[in-house]
Amino acid sequence: MTDDDAHVAGIATRLGAVRARIAAAEHDAGRPAGAVRLLVATKTMPASLIRAAIGAGVDLIGENRVQELVAKGPELAGLGVEIHLIGHLQGNKANPALRWATCVQSVDSPEIAARLGERSAEAGRVLDVLIQVNVSGEPTKYGVLPDSATDFAGAVAGIPGLRLRGFMTIGANSPDAGLVRAGYAHLRELRDAVVGSGLAGTTDVTELSMGMSGDLELAIAEGATIVRVGTGVFGARPR
Ligand SMILES: *Cc1c(COP(=O)(O)O)cnc(C)c1O
Repeated sequence: MTDDDAHVAGIATRLGAVRARIAAAEHDAGRPAGAVRLLVATKTMPASLIRAAIGAGVDLIGENRVQELVAKGPELAGLGVEIHLIGHLQGNKANPALRWATCVQSVDSPEIAARLGERSAEAGRVLDVLIQVNVSGEPTKYGVLPDSATDFAGAVAGIPGLRLRGFMTIGANSPDAGLVRAGYAHLRELRDAVVGSGLAGTTDVTELSMGMSGDLELAIAEGATIVRVGTGVFGARPR
């Protein structure tokens, strides 16, 4: 077995373990099997390893940086994998983001929403978007604050060229599981408030992208529909 073979086998093994965790968490939460979709976070990973993950059954990946999206996109095209952008986006990168991603999960300002909507409409497309909310309020995290999230969602829902699908958050960086979980519950409540508002453009608001390698069980217990897992599948990222 070469090093490459070993790495590829490791990915398949870890992927199986992550899928088992998701299934167990769905069961424990009384949710139907398959209620939660796995997005594999591929930042810093070369296209060869991402292809190995796709070969092992991954059908949804997320990149943080447009530069990486552009660099790896051509090597991943045609493999049937769906790509989401899960990192902060600058307005001048809207076109390359649209070129490779079918969903931007990290919409966090009126400016970026407007820019993506314009570019998407120009291209004759409707781009799926999630609004990133900073549920913990940690200053190092991107995302709109919870207090302004429902108003912002109403505005994004009305932008031609965009289809608002839900909300995304990065959980609190805390060993206190109760605190982390409360943040995830808060995101669910925000989504439900937007759905309940009945505003135009909110009928497709179903998604909650929350939970990562370390805490996906907490997020699934609070209604995550997408969990984003990197190290759980690839092992530790090189620093
Ligand atoms: C890296 C990353 C993840 C995955 O984190 P892991 O701890 O490696 O599972 C999820 N979401 C975002 C936005 C990330 O940047």
